Amino acid sequence: MESILTINNLTKKFGYLTAVKDLSFSINKGNVYGILGPNGSGKSTTLGVVLNVVNKTEGSFHWFDGKTSTHDALKKVGAIIERPNFYPYMTASQNLKLVCKIKGVDYSKIDEKLEIVGLLDRKNSKFKTYSLGMKQRLAIASALLNDPEILILDEPTNGLDPQGIHQIREIIKEIATQGTTILLASHLLDEVEKVCSHVVVLRKGVKLYSGRVDEMISSHGFFELKCNKQSEL
Ligand code: ADP
Ligand code: MG
Repeated sequence: MESILTINNLTKKFGYLTAVKDLSFSINKGNVYGILGPNGSGKSTTLGVVLNVVNKTEGSFHWFDGKTSTHDALKKVGAIIERPNFYPYMTASQNLKLVCKIKGVDYSKIDEKLEIVGLLDRKNSKFKTYSLGMKQRLAIASALLNDPEILILDEPTNGLDPQGIHQIREIIKEIATQGTTILLASHLLDEVEKVCSHVVVLRKGVKLYSGRVDEMISSHGFFELKCNKQSEL
């Protein structure tokens, strides 16, 4: 299986607080991975480390076969780790043109990606007129412009209404079907159940489980985990 990301014994400390502790897992091409855990469990910190925006304390990680530098590897990674932020008075299409310029991507990709996220018919609307769900979908289109090998999403459905949540989840599944690997951080067990094939469960920075979602759900001990920890998961 083709490797996308390998994390070995990763630890991240903020002063005395250990946000991520001795974490190891790997991601292979073509699957949909979840990082599941309650708020503060270390999901965003883990993503920050592998995206080179947070310095690790101990351990290691490498992208793809490990032969390319992280800097070069990240050119093949699409990530949405913040609330979507574009120029409010520019249209969706104009905003994506700017991203194309920065990434050195042909403008022809814009309509293709807007179509995937269901915004083609709204491409000439100003960003400020978009709902939060539409903004999030535009951010996904933007992250896809350079055809990344993997798309990373940090809590992409937070703050959305049920319809907006459903749309984002369907889009993620569609993108995965087209062959893009997905890494989705979420505090929602049902989101991971609906969207992901594989999962890493974190609690207080420590890995509780990693493996297939269906095997986790059918495994001995999961019912207990769910009952005890549902409020936290
Ligand atoms: P999650 O994304 O799962 O909600 P985070 O990775 O954001 O969790 O946070 C993990 C822990 O690290 C939390 O206790 C959080 O308060 C702490 N933390 C995150 N970023 C910083 C930072 N820049 N400085 C200090 N503590 C931080
Ligand atoms: Mg987070």
